[in-house]
Amino acid sequence: MTRRVIVVGGGAIGLTSSTLLARSGYRVVLLEEKKIFSGASGVNLGILSLPLGVLDGFSIDYVEKALSLHNSFSREYGYSLLPSSIVVPLRYLRTILGEVLRAISSIHRLGVRFRRIENLGLSLVASSTFLIDPGEYRDTLRRRLDEAGVEVLEGVAAEEIRVEEKRVTSIETSSGEELEADIVVVAAGPWTPKLLESIDVKLDLEPIKGYTIVASTSTPIDYVIGVDPIFIRPHQHRRDIILIGGYKIKSKLDTSIVEEHIEEMLSRAEKIGIVVDKVLEVKVGLRPCLDKPITTILGAKNLVVSTGHCRHGMMLAPLAAVEVVELVKKITKSL
Ligand SMILES: Cc1cc2nc3c(=O)[nH]c(=O)nc-3n(C[C@H](O)[C@H](O)[C@H](O)COP(=O)(O)OP(=O)(O)OC[C@H]3O[C@@H](n4cnc5c(N)ncnc54)[C@H](O)[C@@H]3O)c2cc1C
Repeated sequence: MTRRVIVVGGGAIGLTSSTLLARSGYRVVLLEEKKIFSGASGVNLGILSLPLGVLDGFSIDYVEKALSLHNSFSREYGYSLLPSSIVVPLRYLRTILGEVLRAISSIHRLGVRFRRIENLGLSLVASSTFLIDPGEYRDTLRRRLDEAGVEVLEGVAAEEIRVEEKRVTSIETSSGEELEADIVVVAAGPWTPKLLESIDVKLDLEPIKGYTIVASTSTPIDYVIGVDPIFIRPHQHRRDIILIGGYKIKSKLDTSIVEEHIEEMLSRAEKIGIVVDKVLEVKVGLRPCLDKPITTILGAKNLVVSTGHCRHGMMLAPLAAVEVVELVKKITKSL
């Protein structure tokens, strides 16, 4: 019997999970309140970095597994994965020295070396970093999703999770429908706690606001420059365009663009010799941050929650989706 899975949230985690679930033989309905990738997944810098993941406390094996999955997904689905490096000018290194020292035990596996870089001076250069274009990731997975027959409902929010005898029976939607489900996956990014409130589950998730500024430049770069809290990367396909992104501000669910933040980011870029000719676009997003990301059964026997990937959700999406499928299969056996 084909089981029906409802996935809530069309960000990187929900989209990838839906695709893999459909390819594993499930009947999948994906509910997205706005548009696919309208949250952080459509805003981020697309940096997939082993050293950054390790600096943020993930084990090297875990991040290597995530990168290796991206490698096979990119070939199978057809999105481009550019090998790159992260360059941290030594004069900025002291701001992240504590984290660097913590990661030093695995430094030999991170491909770290020192090099003199034009304009930046002596810098720490770490390889094992890749770049994707989140828009391209969305489009290629979306095609696979449609091929696999996933029913995508955009503009429809999950408003309430209905539970009977510790099992989810259905999802009530903003269009007034009650959708029955054998299994539900919630991947609603920073909005996950709000939805889980309907079944009295408390999740201490902190949304952290960040921006991506798309700009034209006359100082093209071939690598990622890390001057926390901002990172500057080259465009996936155009040398005259850079993306300046990052910034961290606790913001609840507020997504307003604060002009001062943008000016501060541009001035940081300018200080390290990056010339911004014209700001083409400013995007804002909320990183869903927990102490550690979770992909787990929570609140009911047939409810999987996957969120909390904070500033690494694009890198970890394929791995989170594989974990979601494993849990859904485990639940299926018990139905
Ligand atoms: C500026 C910035 C730069 C970043 N850079 C990187 C980077 O370089 N590399 C990296 O790996 N990560 C990066 N990230 C982090 C990454 O973008 C996130 O971790 C990831 O996108 C989170 O994906 P998600 O699917 O969990 O959430 P989201 O992308 O937020 O998706 C959740 C979706 O759920 C929908 N939704 C919410 N509530 C409901 C509901 N009730 N019913 C239906 N739908 C609902 C929302 O509309 C949204 O589309 C960055 C983030 C930001 C903000």
